[in-house]
Amino acid sequence: MAKVMIICDYCKFELGYCEPSKVILPLMGHHFSSPKPEWGVSAPFNDGAYGEGLKCRQCKRRAFRDVEVITDKDGEQYDLKNVKQPEEHRTYPKYRRNKKGDLVPVKTRQSE
Ligand SMILES: [Zn+2]
Repeated sequence: MAKVMIICDYCKFELGYCEPSKVILPLMGHHFSSPKPEWGVSAPFNDGAYGEGLKCRQCKRRAFRDVEVITDKDGEQYDLKNVKQPEEHRTYPKYRRNKKGDLVPVKTRQSE
């Protein structure tokens, strides 16, 4: 999936580019890049911003009604919960308790 221009949910301002397939929730400022890098425009959000901190530069409201759904300038919506993500990002280490009560990592298919 390529980078797409993401717009503000309220005023439709073109915020900046994002590659939905690369977004690992929670959605954060660093997932977005400048809408006009050739003009020296900065990225739309601070890298560490998230949730309420993702404010639209134009209308000053939080840019996304639902921080897990973003919309591109053609009106296509990306539900970030359902965007196919790279395998390494979908598997988290799991732990279980052994007989002594210690937490030990559960072997995954990759580590076997
Ligand atoms: Zn706006």
